[in-house]
Amino acid sequence: MRFHVLTLFPEMILQGVSHSILGRAIADGLIRVEAVNIRDFSHNKQLHVDDAPFGGGAGMVMQAPPVYEAWEAVSQKIASEQGEGIRKTRVVFMTPAGRPFSQEIARELAAEEDLILLCGHYEGIDQRVIDEIVTDEISIGDYVLTGGELPALVVMDAVSRLVPGVLGNDDSAEDESFSGMYLEYPQFTRPREYHGREVPEVLLSGHHENIRKWRLEQSMRTTMRKRPDLIDPARMSKEEAKIYRRLLAESEEYGPSSE
Ligand code: SAM
Repeated sequence: MRFHVLTLFPEMILQGVSHSILGRAIADGLIRVEAVNIRDFSHNKQLHVDDAPFGGGAGMVMQAPPVYEAWEAVSQKIASEQGEGIRKTRVVFMTPAGRPFSQEIARELAAEEDLILLCGHYEGIDQRVIDEIVTDEISIGDYVLTGGELPALVVMDAVSRLVPGVLGNDDSAEDESFSGMYLEYPQFTRPREYHGREVPEVLLSGHHENIRKWRLEQSMRTTMRKRPDLIDPARMSKEEAKIYRRLLAESEEYGPSSE
């Protein structure tokens, strides 16, 4: 999978993906990250790419022509690499006004061969170029950052770990929070006893079926306590529905809110 990031701060992107699992995935050729400097497409000697907003107001706005030309250059490169089978490459604009990012969107994007990520800065980008080239808008949360680089890194991280081979063990992405309806069960490693706290006995038993059941129940408990909005009894298996009813009966903690 190839990411093409349109940004004013390419070093930030390249630094951000150069470590740990993403760094290894790049070295192994499983993903490729290219950062295109929008400033290279500036139309003036000072290399400015922003200007004051029409209509007045605070801050500066990124101009349409450099953004468009950066996108055009990347699109041509992608087209020349794709050869005959050219597909329209999705262009994701990182913006607080976008679709809230989720594991589901990460899964959807992981199916793409190429992805263009557009990072805004200052007060944002001239709307006309957004209307012309952007296919998707994604927000990483209800807060405002100084630029789209951190959001682009968040998206690339979540998407990359779903690309086959990026995680050492392909199962690890299937068994964790948001892969199904539940958050992940608690994890433990050595030492067996830590500050007087023991690892749950069942995890030392070697009994795979009991461990599976214990983890499922722990996942359900955690989700019911921390994110009851994720629970949908209609989607539960028979086994899950049985555990769910027992947990509800067991504790008022999981009951309907008194608001
Ligand atoms: N004036 C814009 C507004 O009120 O929505 C905010 C612009 S912000 C200072 C500069 C850039 O950071 C945005 O164009 C966007 O690319 C990025 N950005 C900031 N917060 C973001 C978020 N929560 N999710 C995704 N991108 C964000």
